[in-house]
Formats: sequence, C-alpha cells, structure tokens
Amino acid sequence: MSKLVKRVAALVAATAVWSLAPQAHAQAWPAKPVTWVVPFAAGGPTDAMARDIADKVGKQLGQQVIIENIGGAGGTIGAGKVAKAAADGYTFLVGHMGYMGAGPSLYKKLTYDPVKDFDAVFRFPDTPLVLLVPKSSPFKTAEELIAAAKKAPGKINFGNAGVGSTSHLIAALFESKAGIDVTPVPYKGAAPAMNDLIAGQVDAMFDQSNTALPQVAGGRVNAIALTSLQPMPQQYPNVPPLAAGTLPGFEAATWYGLYAPKGTPKDVLAKLHAAYLKALGDAQWTKKMADQGIQLLPEAQYAPGAFAAHTAAEVDKWRKVAADANIQID
Ligand code: ASP
Repeated sequence: MSKLVKRVAALVAATAVWSLAPQAHAQAWPAKPVTWVVPFAAGGPTDAMARDIADKVGKQLGQQVIIENIGGAGGTIGAGKVAKAAADGYTFLVGHMGYMGAGPSLYKKLTYDPVKDFDAVFRFPDTPLVLLVPKSSPFKTAEELIAAAKKAPGKINFGNAGVGSTSHLIAALFESKAGIDVTPVPYKGAAPAMNDLIAGQVDAMFDQSNTALPQVAGGRVNAIALTSLQPMPQQYPNVPPLAAGTLPGFEAATWYGLYAPKGTPKDVLAKLHAAYLKALGDAQWTKKMADQGIQLLPEAQYAPGAFAAHTAAEVDKWRKVAADANIQID
C-alpha cells in the first residue's frame, strides 16, 4: 500500500466526525444522478478536473455525477445559481480560488457569500499554472515578454477565463511583480481563451498545468515559464519557474473544491466526502494526476472541515490583497 493510500484510509475513518449526523437521508441518497456545476466553458481546466473527480466519486456512490457548465463573469454566475439551488444533495458547485476566494473582494455586487451560502465539502488537489504564448510569438522567455511590455505599456494582451478567474488573477500578480502593464482579454472559460491563443489572437495566457500540457506537447502553443517554485521536468522539460528568473519567490497555484448550497443534509456531505477519500485511495489514479502536474495535498487538507477553514482564510487573505492593491471590479 502506498503512503498516500494508507493516509487516505486513515482519513476515511476520520469522516466519522460527520457521520454522527442522522443517517436516514444518507441511506436513500443518491437516489438519482447528482449535478456538479462547473461555472466555465467545457474543455477548460476546472471542467477537466471536475469530470475526472466526478467520474471516480460517482463510481464510489454507485450513481452518475453529471457536469453542467454555466460559464460567465469569472465563475460568479454559476456560483450564484448554486447558492440559490435546493439544498437537497443533488446540486453542487465546483469552486476555485477566484470566485470562492477572491470574488467577494473583487465584486461589490456579488450575489452570494462563499462562506455563508455554502457548505465546503472537500478540496481537490491544486494545479500550478504555465505562461503560454502562440507558436508564432517572438517571446521565447518571460524576461523577453517583460522587456517588451516595459517598452510598450498596455500593448501586450493576455487571454483569461473571465474577470476574477485564476488566469486573470495570476496575470495581475505577474504584472504587479514584474512592474508591467498588460491588457486582459476575458473569455467564458480557459478553453475559448486557449483557442484564441492557438490562433494567435492574443499574445499570452496563464493556463493550468493539466490542460496546458496536451497543447504544449502537441506543439500548438509554447510554454515559457511556470508559476510553481520548483521546475516540472517530467511535464515541462526546459521550462523555468518564474521564480528562477527575474521574479524570485513568485509562486502561484489554483485551489479547487466542491461546495454544497448551505443546509445540505450533513449525512449527504459525509457520504460524499467518504466517497472522495475512497477514490483518492486509488494509487494509479493519483499517479495519473501527478503525471499531469497536479499537486496532491498534504493529508490534513483532505480532513473534514479543512476545506471550510481554507475557504474562510482565503476570503480574508484576498480582502487584504485587494485592499492593499486597491482592486475592485464593479
Ligand atoms: N480555472 C480557469 C481559470 O480560472 C477557468 C477554466 O477552468 O476554464 O482561469
């Protein structure tokens, strides 16, 4: 048994904390397919990760988990819909660092509260990002791109998955650390942004390592830098971390996870959490994720309650970041 499989087995036992809740509902649930809303276009990184995890969790539950894509406004439209959905254990939200962490500080008129309107069920593994440029790009390194942006502020444009998406936030972080000014171009998800990057309609984009990988390996775009602190020689040989160049200490990864509308029966949450931990016990699957550059988390992050604490801490963190940088979207 691998170390991770053993640790996950111990965590399955720990879900007993949630299992203390009444069992009546859990015996019947899930009596029909369960929907997970991905608030971006199909084919992007959130969608790819959600479909993979939904498939494994669905097998554990003996019921299909359907992905519904509701894209727009950096994930906030889909998140707002799930916040108001029936808390009956059949509708969930795949959330991430953008609209469930930074969202409340960026959008004044957000229709939901990531902490008050949701129960955090479990956290997915994290994914670092990759700085990509079209094949025809003159930029072979991040330093070349930074130098060009310094000469012509606002001229270089960056595709992103919508205002407040992680591709947008990380590009903003990159801009501020590099002391440059680029123009963001928002799409309804990373997948349509990637199509335009391949076609050379935008100059650059930060994409998650898992969905960037087949595009880079297939020779459709060039990867010029990583947001991980360490190199990723298996996935991106010869692509340096930004931290190894002119931006020492630069590190960013997206966190994701599953949320339920507040008030979803506790026994349903416990059953779902246990199904996820059992799925994570499949060493072949976790190796496949790691091979794509997805970062499995320290075991404590998979424990019940850890994801709720993480979400609340991230909302606070981003409030400080947004206040310091004076960022507001509407
Ligand atoms: N997760 C991506 C982002 O926020 C969007 C997507 O999955 O399409 O940049």
